[in-house]
Amino acid sequence: MKFGIDSGHNSPPDTGARGIKIEDNLTLDVGNRVITKLRALGNEVVVCKPSSASTVRESLSKRCTTANASKVDIFVSIHFNAFNRQANGTEIFATSESGRKIAKPVLDEIVKLGFFNRGVKSGSHLFVLRNTDMPAILVECCFIDSAKDMNLFEPEAMANAIVKGLTGKVSSVPVNPVSDEEDNVDTTILRLQKALNRLKITDKNGKALVEDGFTGANTKSAAEKFQTIVGIQPTGIANAATWNAINLILAKRIIRPNHAGGTVVAYLQYRVGVENDGVYGPQTEVAIKKFQQQNGLDADGIVGPASWQKLIG
Ligand SMILES: [Zn+2]
Repeated sequence: MKFGIDSGHNSPPDTGARGIKIEDNLTLDVGNRVITKLRALGNEVVVCKPSSASTVRESLSKRCTTANASKVDIFVSIHFNAFNRQANGTEIFATSESGRKIAKPVLDEIVKLGFFNRGVKSGSHLFVLRNTDMPAILVECCFIDSAKDMNLFEPEAMANAIVKGLTGKVSSVPVNPVSDEEDNVDTTILRLQKALNRLKITDKNGKALVEDGFTGANTKSAAEKFQTIVGIQPTGIANAATWNAINLILAKRIIRPNHAGGTVVAYLQYRVGVENDGVYGPQTEVAIKKFQQQNGLDADGIVGPASWQKLIG
């Protein structure tokens, strides 16, 4: 069997979410183990993650091109979820019936490790599933911002579950781990200023921040404003909770009406000028649709890649 294994992100500017852990590190770690194990079991594996990319779009399309050109039998993209620190568990996206058949045993094996079963879901909105020619799945192993999941998560066990689900077999071949040593909380002021500007959070004078890397009253006021919007104690100091919220928004997850809210919805509500209670209800839907209309987008109320592009670039 010929597998295309896509370790998610890891191609700046295509970087993953950040929570308690860093998605890039985990997808690489699990991906490397899956690749090595599949090969040890006698399968051919094509590594689909590009070595570099200039845009997220390019990063994604290179993965598909590699899989398609290599004519792999099955494409597997490995990711980790992040949402609101409460959500947890495993879900696998597939588009075709054949994809769903591949997803089910993988999901079952991961769930055996103790993760909540969120099911096999339709992945027709996902670029790498839409643009690969063969049966393809995208595994959201678990949530990097969930304490429950991160306590349970163990890269070797996760990789074994994926390989067992794909092949029915396990391999205990040793694999070099990817260290998770990068500091998860980047407190540098320059990064904060850049992030707040990207999120269009202005200072107390309604102005964008000067990106000078120095703490001052303006940067502090913008940080306070952001913290208030997303419901964190407004200290003006970028702590772990603040970075977690920033990274959740920058992850640009698709947001649909009538779904659980939280940080990202509260931020969207701020941007479209409705009461920011963090719940995507009817009022928010009207405002989002209006925003989409004003920006020449499909006014469907679903905040997908095009809407995110208009919101935060
Ligand atoms: Zn991801």
